[in-house]
Amino acid sequence: MIFFDKFNNNNPQLTYFFYFCTMEQKEDKLKEVISHAKEYGYVFPSSEIYDGLAATYDYGQLGSELKNNIKTYWWKSMTQMHENIVGIDSAIFMHPTTWKASGHVDAFNDPLIDNKDSKKRYRADVLIEEHIEKIRQKINKEVEKASKKFGEAFDKAQFLATNPNVLRNSQKITEIEDRMRTTLENNDLEGVQQLIIDLEIVCPISGSKNWTEVRQFNLMFSTELGSVAGDAATIYLRPETAQGIFVNFLNVQKSGRMKIPFGIAQIGKAFRNEIVARQFIFRMREFEQMEMQFFVRPGEEMKWYEYWKETRVKWHKALGLGDDAYRLHDHIKLAHYANAACDIEFDFPMGFKELEGIHSRTDFDLKQHEEFSGKKLQFFDPELNESYVPYVVETSVGLDRMFLAVLSNSLNTEKLEDGSERVVLSLPAALAPYKVAIMPLTRKDGLPEKAREIFDTLKYDFQCQYDEKDSPGKRYRRQDAIGTPFCVMVDHETMENNTVTVRDRDTMQQVRIAISELHTLIDEKVNLRNLLQNL
Ligand code: ATP
Repeated sequence: MIFFDKFNNNNPQLTYFFYFCTMEQKEDKLKEVISHAKEYGYVFPSSEIYDGLAATYDYGQLGSELKNNIKTYWWKSMTQMHENIVGIDSAIFMHPTTWKASGHVDAFNDPLIDNKDSKKRYRADVLIEEHIEKIRQKINKEVEKASKKFGEAFDKAQFLATNPNVLRNSQKITEIEDRMRTTLENNDLEGVQQLIIDLEIVCPISGSKNWTEVRQFNLMFSTELGSVAGDAATIYLRPETAQGIFVNFLNVQKSGRMKIPFGIAQIGKAFRNEIVARQFIFRMREFEQMEMQFFVRPGEEMKWYEYWKETRVKWHKALGLGDDAYRLHDHIKLAHYANAACDIEFDFPMGFKELEGIHSRTDFDLKQHEEFSGKKLQFFDPELNESYVPYVVETSVGLDRMFLAVLSNSLNTEKLEDGSERVVLSLPAALAPYKVAIMPLTRKDGLPEKAREIFDTLKYDFQCQYDEKDSPGKRYRRQDAIGTPFCVMVDHETMENNTVTVRDRDTMQQVRIAISELHTLIDEKVNLRNLLQNL
């Protein structure tokens, strides 16, 4: 999202792609994830019987469990693991002046451009970024070629600094980025259009350069409050949850007797009328954010910015999706009120893209709200014996993007020793919708009753599934595909000695243990404590 003009002149994010996969492979992987999500009740297109609604999705019976588990992991890591962080749940509708003060009414815009032939609409900045990306890929190809040619003797840094083709392309990138930054910062929409024309960018659909002028498009959805037309006032669906925290800063501080530094966390829906919404749940018009604003003494914000950067990366890595799947991307050009900002990017099926933003926002928002509301939003610091408007470091992660990160990373097709394949969703055990599936080997001899008995003892602590249909092999495959960490099989031996076999999703190993030991075995693997302890 670009959020620029007098309030913010954020440089648009650079788009990265996963260099080692072809475009087709990336698309295939995303398609696979989408179809798996639908087939097994994770994510459905919204109002599908009416052919769906663009960029809107519903979470199904398993999807909502996974989503809730991600939320719980985030919420506990914030509010339970930090005694100075509390959570709130503020309304989606807010007083319209909130959005004036925050700058969203005037400045929460994206520059859009239409192609007159295909009638397709694009974000102008994204078209330019994609053009830059193509040049970057040329550089990568040169590097790859040279690396193959020179083998171990290849010195990448030297090559990048001296190869004429690389230098020429790097120079091109710098020039385009500079022009894009200047035109966007100055709200010079003609300049943005001219850049698109000069770069000879064509519409990916029509292949033509027949562009309209560039216009600003505000991303907030508006509606009217009140039933009487004359009384109606324009209000907005919040485009971020953060403002609900800022306006409650003093309420929480006073009622909770909070001392700086302290944080306020919130999980909730946000709405943006995205110009181009695609790539499944990565970019939606209705989505959920998990945000935390950490209020600190002015001058101490950089220390806390570093702390939160490190803490949030740890939170992500504790999930075990692979340390290489993350990278930090510092914003090159900062908004004038921010003194530091970076993104945690994740290796999605479409390549590395923003998963979470960490921003040091100074005292901008609270000061704006002081000015527009006429109310003081300050903290009296007894140690310093003075009042001040606190500085803020925020962490903001998209819940849906977290969901996509976890789901896409966990979905794998494995080749087994006997040559067959299995589709397995290796979800982090603590996040899996079902922790255990309980199955009677056959539907007779009292086995179902025994299995139900086990189900009834475990259900208080774990989300369990009872499954008696089909052969054991088929049932195991079904549980693998939905990511259930354990399958418990009740067989005839169970009736003799109260033991069961437990199959591990990841290793497919089976062990025979006493029913009385089940709880401990499952708990050791699936308890959220395992993740929280690693933070
Ligand atoms: P982008 O550059 O991808 O549009 P952003 O920089 O506008 O994202 P922020 O305003 O920093 O995003 O919002 C914080 C987080 O909210 C993002 O890191 C992302 O995870 C999530 N988010 C933002 N927009 C969307 C969207 N349209 N759909 C799903 N998640 C989103």
